[in-house]
Amino acid sequence: MESVVIFDSPGKGRGLKAAKEFWAGDVIFSEASIAAVVFDSLAERICHSCFRRQEKLQRCAQCKFAHYCDRTCQRAAWPEHKVECGAIKAYGKVPNENIRLVARVLWRLDKEGSMVSDMQLTTLDELEDHINDMQEHDLKELKVDVHNFLDYWPRTSKQHLIDDISHIFGVINCNGFSVSDQKGLQAVGVGLFPNLCLVNHDCWPNCTVILNHGNQSAVSTVFHSQQRIELRSLGKIAEGEELTVSYVDYLNLSEERRRLLKTQYYFDCTCEHCKNKTHDDVKMGGKEVDGVKPSDEQVKEATDYCFQMMDKMDKARLNGDYHEVSKICRDCIEKTEPILADTHIYLLRMWSTMSEVKAYLQNFEEAAEYARKMVDGYMKLYHPNNPALGMAAMRAGVTHWQAGLIEIGHGMICKAYAILMVTHGPTHPITKDLEAMRVQTEMELRMFKENEYVYYSMREAALKNKPMTMLHEPRSVEEGIKNLFHRK
Ligand SMILES: [Zn+2]
Ligand SMILES: [Zn+2]
Ligand SMILES: [Zn+2]
Repeated sequence: MESVVIFDSPGKGRGLKAAKEFWAGDVIFSEASIAAVVFDSLAERICHSCFRRQEKLQRCAQCKFAHYCDRTCQRAAWPEHKVECGAIKAYGKVPNENIRLVARVLWRLDKEGSMVSDMQLTTLDELEDHINDMQEHDLKELKVDVHNFLDYWPRTSKQHLIDDISHIFGVINCNGFSVSDQKGLQAVGVGLFPNLCLVNHDCWPNCTVILNHGNQSAVSTVFHSQQRIELRSLGKIAEGEELTVSYVDYLNLSEERRRLLKTQYYFDCTCEHCKNKTHDDVKMGGKEVDGVKPSDEQVKEATDYCFQMMDKMDKARLNGDYHEVSKICRDCIEKTEPILADTHIYLLRMWSTMSEVKAYLQNFEEAAEYARKMVDGYMKLYHPNNPALGMAAMRAGVTHWQAGLIEIGHGMICKAYAILMVTHGPTHPITKDLEAMRVQTEMELRMFKENEYVYYSMREAALKNKPMTMLHEPRSVEEGIKNLFHRK
């Protein structure tokens, strides 16, 4: 590994720094997982080999637990699944995802040694498990998992000390990486990537990490289903600079980010943005109209109201009652939009949910309006190459296209494409989708400028074919992928 060096980062423990200069979009390193598993809740809907969501999956005839797209996926997964398959059969039930992941990690290490590739910078023994920092409740859970693990672990496999098993559970607890589906839209599993564990956090990071499922058409090669992450540079990084990623969403206030980082990752963030509370004022600010700002009381009242409504909205959303969600959002937006800044994070949540739900209910014009407000707000808060900004611009672009607002739609899709070329890279499936959309909207825009009538009739036909839909059900999909590491 020539691109990075391990060093002692002041106040942070071990970290990685750049061994040479990098530019926006450079892949600093890419790494395959030691092991990865599908979430318990999605075990029958996601392929256990390639992590694709499929309508029809074939079940492993032996354990009746593992599911695959087809024979190719099953064959590719067999070396990893073989021992697991026997263990599940003998155990008589399926252990939870944490236990399955720890078992897979240990089987792999028992077979290949503590370094499974030349690129690996650290052994798992050297990684922090933070067991001593855990809250009593988490500690109890860990003990139950270890206990069940011992029942599940076959006698014929190599036996390990309880402390060593607990260590792996601890490592996974703070460093289990959320594995998304091939489009990066939904978290579907959890995996362990040791080099990534060495990259420290900064709320305003210089890198991002993205999962790329690689070449899934490759038949019967080890690359078929390999989960790989890429550490990608968000801008210019000088030689010797520490490499950082963000473990939490920047849209949270600094205090909330610090709380999340402390409870989930056991450290106090001392980054510049936390120290200076950067953007906190505008994230909770009032709307200035002609130089006049609402009073602090008015802003507080509107903020509190939004907060209450968000709770109601989330409940309705979980119940799949999207008309109710839309009603709650509309009332709340009407009341608070005149008072709150266009960067107020609660208002942004309202706009985001509203656009998603409206698009799902096929009311594209309204969806587009809210999506535009959301992206405008995000652009004032996020780093210009933040992946969440890119995804939001993509969603807004599609919605505008669906609403027939081709000029803004094309602009947004170009913007999203520029960001995703940096954060996801040209080979990622979602970037390829965006490229196709960019080409199509460009052609439509040209047509629109030449002859509006022809454009509208062609668009009707295109809408019927639905080549660009992103109409998944709006059930807090984004929240699932904004956290870098997996949280229960
Ligand atoms: Zn598959
Ligand atoms: Zn099986
Ligand atoms: Zn911070």
